[in-house]
Amino acid sequence: GRGRPWEREHVRTTCGYCGTGCQFDLAVAPGQQGKRQVVEVVPTAEAPVNGRSLCVKGRFGTGFIHHRDRLRQPLIKKDGQWVAASWSEAIALIADRWQAIKADYGSDAFGVLASARATNEDNYVIHRLARSVFGTNNIDHCARLCHASSVTGLVASLGSGAMTNPIADLAVTDFFLVIGSNTTESHPVLALAMQKALKRGAQAAVIDPRRIELAGQAQWHLQLRPGTDLALLNAMAQVIIAEGKVNADFVAKRTENYEAVAEAVKDCTPEWAEAITGVPAAIIREVALAYATAPAGAIYYTMGVTQKTTGTHNVMAIANLALLTGQIGRPGTGVNPLRGQNNVQGACDMGALPNVYPGYQPVTDEAVRRKMAQAWHVPPESLSLQTGLTLGEMLDAVDAGTIKTLLIMGENPVVSDPDSDHVVQTLQKADFVVAIDLFMNETTELAHVVLPACSFAEKTGTFTNTERRVQMVRQAIEPIGEARPDWQIITELAAAMGQPFGYTDVAQIMKEIAEVTPSYGGISHERLAVTPQGLCWPCPAPDHPGTPRLHEQAFTRGLGRFHGVSYLPPAEQPDDDYPLILSTGRRLFHYHTGTMTRRDPGLAALYSEEHLEMHPDDAQALGIGDGDWVQVTSRRGSMELALRITDAIVPGTVFTSFHFAEALVNRLTNPARDTLAQIPELKVCAVAVQKIAAP
Ligand code: SF4
Repeated sequence: GRGRPWEREHVRTTCGYCGTGCQFDLAVAPGQQGKRQVVEVVPTAEAPVNGRSLCVKGRFGTGFIHHRDRLRQPLIKKDGQWVAASWSEAIALIADRWQAIKADYGSDAFGVLASARATNEDNYVIHRLARSVFGTNNIDHCARLCHASSVTGLVASLGSGAMTNPIADLAVTDFFLVIGSNTTESHPVLALAMQKALKRGAQAAVIDPRRIELAGQAQWHLQLRPGTDLALLNAMAQVIIAEGKVNADFVAKRTENYEAVAEAVKDCTPEWAEAITGVPAAIIREVALAYATAPAGAIYYTMGVTQKTTGTHNVMAIANLALLTGQIGRPGTGVNPLRGQNNVQGACDMGALPNVYPGYQPVTDEAVRRKMAQAWHVPPESLSLQTGLTLGEMLDAVDAGTIKTLLIMGENPVVSDPDSDHVVQTLQKADFVVAIDLFMNETTELAHVVLPACSFAEKTGTFTNTERRVQMVRQAIEPIGEARPDWQIITELAAAMGQPFGYTDVAQIMKEIAEVTPSYGGISHERLAVTPQGLCWPCPAPDHPGTPRLHEQAFTRGLGRFHGVSYLPPAEQPDDDYPLILSTGRRLFHYHTGTMTRRDPGLAALYSEEHLEMHPDDAQALGIGDGDWVQVTSRRGSMELALRITDAIVPGTVFTSFHFAEALVNRLTNPARDTLAQIPELKVCAVAVQKIAAP
């Protein structure tokens, strides 16, 4: 029920699903045993990003909060069986094992997976545990799988690896390019702003191998072959240069290294790109000119660009276009990577990365090390000056036996990471795995101790959305069972390891974040309490208004830097044995590995099983009909699911999502990585499809 009206209370908070950062009220009312329960999500006109708009996940997807499967007590695996334990028993056991591992194998035997789902405060505390208690920089999280190449590429080009412009700028843009982003399904409320822009008369081009909803609404759809983005982007740069549409004044005053891009793209004609991408040369030319000549032109992109072995170069090629045309640093322009998870921007900002402390301060910088050591009351020498291992490298190190123990907070790498069977084998090799989560899942099953965490409805803190907006998350109900907020669990683990952090409430953690992180220097819970629109970093001082738009006068790195980058085909090409390209993505009704949305009865009913999308020409050639059951096989593994025939996909390509563990597509995906950012090529691998008998 919705509770009696007079018993209901409303608590303003931030959505825990995607990076759009919608706000709403959680309506709570007394439920069983008088405990408050979430009874409804209520949209509110004052929400800064979304107003009254919410997508189906944010509006209705709260069924997981009170779900019977929620972990309610710590669990310890004894003789292969899960046994409930008290918090003190579980914490003591973990501290004992960790101390022994540290004594026997040293600091770099530890690996930490932080979480883009958890708050800034949770991530800050786990990063402190990794660096100051374990003494290692082996900390990373699933940003490695989504925008690691954006961070690396945009830092090199612009000096800051985040969205340059606020979402609200869509109201003043004249032209926008959407590359490798199914915005309508992955960032639904942000897509509404795009649709409004189109209605207002803005033009748009969508670059995507599938005819996604937005492609039907935009003026242009460039339906390229998966993995050929860099050829297309370089051809656009070639057109802009060859047709004299470079913003010469901007290039002269605000950029460097122009010759590198001019040289790299000089032979990348639209005709050359047509042969690689399948997109007609005339369309490439038209779209390049529309972008270059628009009074305000913007680019939005996501995983279709980044999850490639050339992911970092793809991102640099996008930055090149903005620098060539001066479409950056003004309203309605910009280079805008849409961050996927509710707090993936914040987890990166908080230093849940192997190479940087909070605010992207390098771990290799002696002065930064001294500052952090002082804040944490530890000797500087106890903090490692050596860059740690990335997510994939940590798994390699477990495989090789050099990492002995993993702490995994709110991540499910068995389902989310490429080559799942290998991930399972690797986790089985670790001496000791501790997982902190809301539910048992495919990864926690392989742990030795599992600790129950609070959901977003049960804790207070902050999330930073895709446009760098820091917003409050507020506790609406008491924790389920004995669950605790992640920051509190980690603080207790640190104390048991002999290093009390001394946090008694979560606002103290943000105070410390502000002290050590220049870009968060003016942010506090007290200030956010009276700043309902949140604060966009950089916000260096308590009286600074925040910075919704970056690079207005100068780039974060000074001058914008061009990079000459060249097209390379994906690591795996179709051949006689594996003749089709498999690409993966998301669905509107589900979220990532499905641990939350698939436990919501409404969402589960709206989209109950996954299927493989295939073009009618391919289906006919293979003799497979709509609804037939198929086996999909790559060099790494196979899975079975039903076929759906659709002409919205490029022939030669098949598509499915990674939300369903029973159709575990990451068994098939290629772990080959971009050498600069270590992001795996989740978007392209070669597969064979054959019809099989239905189960
Ligand atoms: Fe939540 Fe994203 Fe939907 Fe907004 S668009 S309600 S943030 S899932």
